[in-house]
Amino acid sequence: MTRVDSKFIDEIKTSESFNASACMNCGVCTAVCPMGLDILPRQLFRYVIIGVEDRVLENQETIFSCLMCKMCEQNCPAGVNITENVRTLRTYISRKVFGLLRN
Ligand code: SF4
Ligand code: SF4
Repeated sequence: MTRVDSKFIDEIKTSESFNASACMNCGVCTAVCPMGLDILPRQLFRYVIIGVEDRVLENQETIFSCLMCKMCEQNCPAGVNITENVRTLRTYISRKVFGLLRN
């Protein structure tokens, strides 16, 4: 069952530049992404904001598929720090799932 944890954003927000809430769901990032990563900026970042950790963790493949090419970010009208947000998610997963990093 999906569980909402209001503290998830605090736990994952290790970077001050994590600005997922600026997204206005316009779809430009999806249109220009060479990997066709539809859910990355528009859904996964929102899962963080509303505290749905399991949806983030079940989409690890998408999170690690990003090329960090910044095509999305350079065309985003809302100035979302997409690659920095992805980096933050990767760090969280590395720590939480793989136990690779310490707090
Ligand atoms: S281009 Fe920016 S504002 Fe538009 S959906 Fe993607 S992240 Fe959100
Ligand atoms: S940085 Fe990642 S999400 Fe953005 S366009 Fe490149 S591959 Fe797609």
